[in-house]
Amino acid sequence: MSGSIAGAQKIAARKAGVAFEVYTDALKRGHKWCWRCRTFHDEHVFGRDRTRYDGRGSSCLQARRTAKVSGVSLLAKALGVGRGIRP
Ligand SMILES: [Zn+2]
Repeated sequence: MSGSIAGAQKIAARKAGVAFEVYTDALKRGHKWCWRCRTFHDEHVFGRDRTRYDGRGSSCLQARRTAKVSGVSLLAKALGVGRGIRP
């Protein structure tokens, strides 16, 4: 199954905008690309995601949390909550 993993890594590297060699080298060192932060992080800061080929989420937990918070504030804006805080 290593062929399909390499294929997925090639696609991931292309999406990240980094060379495949750079990408796989980072993976070897236990790093993983975070598409939200647009950088590599230690693998352990990513949450588990069984649906992914490597069993890890595509972005770090911190970025996910931030996205969730901003998503809530966007919803709050849509509902008119907090109107007047920003000019
Ligand atoms: Zn991140």
